[in-house]
Amino acid sequence: MTRPIYGVLLLLLLVACGPRQLEPDDASECDLCNDWNLPQEPFRIYGNTWYVGTAGLSSLLVEAGDGLLLIDGGLPQSAAVIDANIRKLGFDPLRISAIFVSHAHFDHAGGVAALQRLTGAVVYSSIAGATALSSGELQQDDPQFLDALQRGFPAIANVTAIGDRDVVTTAGVEITAVYTPGHTPGGMTWTWESCALGTCNKIVYADSLTAVSAEGYRFSAGPAADQLIESADTISLLDCDILLSPHPFFFGMHDKLERREEGNPFVNNVACFIFAETALGWLEQRLHSEGH
Ligand SMILES: [Zn+2]
Repeated sequence: MTRPIYGVLLLLLLVACGPRQLEPDDASECDLCNDWNLPQEPFRIYGNTWYVGTAGLSSLLVEAGDGLLLIDGGLPQSAAVIDANIRKLGFDPLRISAIFVSHAHFDHAGGVAALQRLTGAVVYSSIAGATALSSGELQQDDPQFLDALQRGFPAIANVTAIGDRDVVTTAGVEITAVYTPGHTPGGMTWTWESCALGTCNKIVYADSLTAVSAEGYRFSAGPAADQLIESADTISLLDCDILLSPHPFFFGMHDKLERREEGNPFVNNVACFIFAETALGWLEQRLHSEGH
């Protein structure tokens, strides 16, 4: 055997035996990106549900008998943080069989492409969300569309689109999709049940309901305002014991972590109602600023 062949064999051996690597996409840049991506110690929220996101962008791991599910992937540069957090908890990210996305913006879908490449997971989204996720670009009816050039994200291969109230049963866990557009045309809220020590709680991962847009967009001129009102109404009526959401400040994560010795502050069956009321307040302010 000649020397070059030995070299090739050695290389193949190294690739086969070396540590598997998450291949990151280019980092997104924005004013808040560095703060959002600060590390966060992963922790159990309740039962089978764990927080594995960064300090400012949520990502959840749901543990099931047959595997793991992931919800949201933060920024492109968050994927490595999420991967490390999952391993820190003692789970193998390669067991993730499904990834659910709240909405197709760079700060929640940015890391999903890399996490899908790593795990081979099926990615689930709404029908409108799937179009945006597959292209890596905001759609024209997204209130933040004018920022599309700055706010794209790595396109995600093979997104599975599902409809309102569809139930995905994967790895032994049932996750229900609740269509909540307004912040984006494809926003999806995800809900599932988590049980521990004989007590079961309904967890709601409520999508963002903030009336944020590119300059010049008017919520009062399009369908987004009505969608936000309807989505807030939908979330306020959900069976909801634990509220979670794409940005930790929406559900007071850091405050709640300070109060963990008082029991589990994440269990609060009026949190969804308050979240919805708060969103309606923000919308009212926005419409007022638009002259309505
Ligand atoms: Zn967003």
